[in-house]
Amino acid sequence: MSNNNHTYLIKAWSRELGFDYCGIAQAQRLDDDARRLEAWLNKGMNGTMAYMANHFDLRIDPSRLVPGARSVITLLLNYFPGMQQPSGAPRFSKYAYGEDYHEVIREKLRQLLAKIRTNIGEVEGRGFVDSAPVLERSWAVRSGLGWVGKNGNLLNRQSGSFFFIATLIVDLGLEYDAPFAGDYCGTCRRCIDACPTEAILPDKVVDGSKCISYFTIELKDLLIPEDMKGKFEGWAFGCDTCQDVCPWNRFSKPTQEPAFSPVPAILNFSTGDWEQLTEDKFREIFRNSPVKRAKYAGLRRNLRFISSPASPPA
Ligand code: SF4
Ligand code: SF4
Repeated sequence: MSNNNHTYLIKAWSRELGFDYCGIAQAQRLDDDARRLEAWLNKGMNGTMAYMANHFDLRIDPSRLVPGARSVITLLLNYFPGMQQPSGAPRFSKYAYGEDYHEVIREKLRQLLAKIRTNIGEVEGRGFVDSAPVLERSWAVRSGLGWVGKNGNLLNRQSGSFFFIATLIVDLGLEYDAPFAGDYCGTCRRCIDACPTEAILPDKVVDGSKCISYFTIELKDLLIPEDMKGKFEGWAFGCDTCQDVCPWNRFSKPTQEPAFSPVPAILNFSTGDWEQLTEDKFREIFRNSPVKRAKYAGLRRNLRFISSPASPPA
């Protein structure tokens, strides 16, 4: 079978597995992208997320992750929910409404690699989802799937940005998609103006250490800094503001992935219900959810933070 046929099959299997988009780029070093990341890390924009600086040398060169790597397959999976939270309730980022995407996508990647091995031959490969050693957005752009917007998200002209990005690196030669050319943000700056904490800087740089997602998920301190009081706009876990305001997201359609159906509490709980949440109930509700990452104490801290008034200026 030719590279062309292999490519056709892999894209067809990715659709069968429920992925919305599949693009393929030739495996090569990503020196420029790695340098940009290094500059971002050097400015401390990863906050306390020290893990982001790990595996730096692996990010640059896919063949360090898969010996003999020839192709990087990028897959997008839509998570945009068909239902909304009640207004006024503590807000959860949409990606966290359903089951943990890591598990869901890992299984799909495992199945895709198994199909490749069964039907094409002995192929070495490794799948990644939201994993430190891979520059997923760079590979997505190189695979023609979209551009990186001013809010730092991958944007797709047909579907917006509510996608998970997964990567499968293989030592198999394939037909490559043309890199995405252009930037369709234009003069728009809605995400910059709407960001509640002014975390979006010029030149598509997002200061992770000022982002609500960082404070509500990654920060493990007992307290969120006082200067953030009154700025969270009800976000208790993550933040979607810069995606919600993006005009490209008017093309978002509800996900077809059953695992991402919202857990009932996210759709039904009032502020009072969240305030009375016990640790046992937290474990039960979020057993298979990305919200586990914040832990019970973290979610309680966030809920207290968004419900307490901002201090008056000194
Ligand atoms: S996720 Fe929220 S806080 Fe973070 S950059 Fe976007 S709008 Fe700003
Ligand atoms: S809101 Fe506007 S500037 Fe921001 S990512 Fe979307 S299109 Fe680009």
